[in-house]
Amino acid sequence: MTAGPGGGRFAPSPTGPLHLGSLLAATASWLDARRLGMPWRVRFDDLDAPRNMPGAERSILLALERHALHWDGPVERQSERLDDYRHALAMLDARGELFYCRCTRSELKGFRVYPGTCRDQREPRPDRAARIRVDDAAVEFDDLIQGPQRQSLADAPGDFVVRRRDGIIAYHLATAVDDGAPGIARVIRGRDLLPATGPQLFLMQRLGLNPPVYGHLPLIRSQNGQKLSKQNLAPALDNTRAAENLARVLTLLGLDPGPHAEQREPADLLAEAVPRFSPATVSKHDGFVTISRHDPGTHRRA
Ligand code: GLU
Repeated sequence: MTAGPGGGRFAPSPTGPLHLGSLLAATASWLDARRLGMPWRVRFDDLDAPRNMPGAERSILLALERHALHWDGPVERQSERLDDYRHALAMLDARGELFYCRCTRSELKGFRVYPGTCRDQREPRPDRAARIRVDDAAVEFDDLIQGPQRQSLADAPGDFVVRRRDGIIAYHLATAVDDGAPGIARVIRGRDLLPATGPQLFLMQRLGLNPPVYGHLPLIRSQNGQKLSKQNLAPALDNTRAAENLARVLTLLGLDPGPHAEQREPADLLAEAVPRFSPATVSKHDGFVTISRHDPGTHRRA
């Protein structure tokens, strides 16, 4: 498939190997793009360099390949698009939407929402965090999985950081610029990122970009209820059990892959799932899996 305009994307941070939760996001967004005949791109969200882990990119791409999640076009990296983000910041600054915040982390401790302390600090200062004023903005969108959403930015997160004090472009800004580009029409990702969607849509609107359609997937929790994540040390995917891993995520997506799925080819499991997949029929409820490195265990729905 050629990478034309409008597509899906998988945007892992190269901070560790893929786990079952990230495989769920990759598989669902791949199925969604393929069902619509769209390209599916891989982008590394690698701006937070201190958190990047050497070798993570290679390990993530290898895991995608072994699970037959083939991507279109070149792998993209946010670190290669700094000019686009700086341009977006300059545009927001020229419109008077940014201010330069000198508050320290400890000064902001205890505030659920930014208290507005530095709102009148309009003079650009590279040594300060740049924040955008949200005033009373509210964002509404229809989530393909979670249904209609309304997020008041004044309630959370308030005036948010678009460039950190250390100069690193903040996640919301880079993601809004990238997901608002013509190449992206669909963003299927984990429900933990639902609160990020309001700020990202707000930025796309301020920058005159075209928002994608969003679908936020249920999370996968381990038997003790913890979300599977790198922070919780979810086990890395075992590429030698690719069919079995795919069978687990397909089941969580409501697409029973049938008997002996673990003995089949990953590409065949995916090809069969493409016409059966629909974000509208994915459960909103979190899935539970039994996690153990050696025994893949059984899965059940929440
Ligand atoms: N890079 C983010 C992460 O790995 C996800 C970004 C996104 O899908 O918007 O959690």
